[in-house]
Amino acid sequence: MRLINLDNNATTRVDPWVVKAMLPFFTDQFGNPSSIHGFGTSVAAAVRKARGQLAALIGAELDSEITFTSGGTESDNAAILSALEAMPDRTEIVTSAVEHPAVLTLCAHLEKTRGVKVHRIPVDRRGRLDLDAYRAALNPHVAIVSIMWANNETGTIFPVAKLAELAKEAGALFHTDAVQAVGKLPMDLKSTPIDMLSLSGHKMHGPKGIGALYVKHGVPFRSLIKGGHQEHDRRAGTENTPGIVGLGMAAELALKFMDDENTRVRSLRDRLEKGILRRIPNSFVTGDPLERLPNTANIVFEYNEGDAIPLLLSRVGIACSSGSACTSGSLEPSHVLRAMNAAHAAVRFSFSRYNGEEDVDRVLEVLPAIVEKLRGFRSSGPGKRSAEDLRSGLCLSSRRTGSRP
Ligand SMILES: *Cc1c(COP(=O)(O)O)cnc(C)c1O
Repeated sequence: MRLINLDNNATTRVDPWVVKAMLPFFTDQFGNPSSIHGFGTSVAAAVRKARGQLAALIGAELDSEITFTSGGTESDNAAILSALEAMPDRTEIVTSAVEHPAVLTLCAHLEKTRGVKVHRIPVDRRGRLDLDAYRAALNPHVAIVSIMWANNETGTIFPVAKLAELAKEAGALFHTDAVQAVGKLPMDLKSTPIDMLSLSGHKMHGPKGIGALYVKHGVPFRSLIKGGHQEHDRRAGTENTPGIVGLGMAAELALKFMDDENTRVRSLRDRLEKGILRRIPNSFVTGDPLERLPNTANIVFEYNEGDAIPLLLSRVGIACSSGSACTSGSLEPSHVLRAMNAAHAAVRFSFSRYNGEEDVDRVLEVLPAIVEKLRGFRSSGPGKRSAEDLRSGLCLSSRRTGSRP
């Protein structure tokens, strides 16, 4: 069975050119970039090159504004904790209700253990940030605003440059989790007031376990990981050189394929959305209809709950994901959908440059019958309970097989 990956917001296939670029750094080029001898210096040059490739992708002014980390989660943690440490007289954080757990879990922890005050800005039914609430939350006690560039579930894009401007007026630092936006949207950070930005390799056809934090020149920074002097004293620990080189190559390719993302990938996504809405009654697209990532379709099927649709699709070789918290045993919509006041679970289809029209056609071929079957089960069974039993059964079986990332 040919597997179709429409779950690219969860992770992506590593580009073959990325693998090729990385391989020598496991063999001949094994050196430590901090060493002064020949084994180290050529590796140090490769790390420098990767820093430049990444700086070019996001439009940083200086290569030294890029610090390599272990991924998006570490970058988010480093940014927020740095701001609190650098500005000890400020003890509040402004974030949104729809951030990734990398931000929300940390904020909840800081609230509980350090008495930090956290403002979680709500969104509307389209997933758009409540700008009045945002303005109202900004005050002289705010150390950092952390608001994502694009949402991983709905693809909704927040106006981060404008949000950063407002944060600056309140004297706060502005950080954005841009893990879903980097490589998909053109960026020119040097012309924005954004202070810090997180990105991750594996969401952009690079390797897992590598990412970066952009810190604008002149912004105060306190390192999260203490140890040696690597990464300009910003991130201790011997560099993950194969990962760094891979991330650099992934950044170069992302820049090259950006037009493809915004034309071909977008048209595949649009074709899927139109096809589903035409074939399946009581389905609708969520997220901001205008400001949305080109690769993401998040579709609500009324009367659908939990993970039932992605699980039945996975049985015919199609990978996508639900906006439910099924892995935790719940049939509730995700925190993102709940923040949008959505009563039903959604299904997220996220594309990459490796998808083609045949993938869209296959989904459109099998999905209507799946939705009809689940809805039929729900209305003909002895009540809602048995439908939930079916769905929770599906959730459990997915956990046993470990098919869910
Ligand atoms: C995947 C993701 C992360 C986490 O990145 P990792 O590299 O997996 O730690 C953070 N934020 C967003 C929006 C993501 O999609």
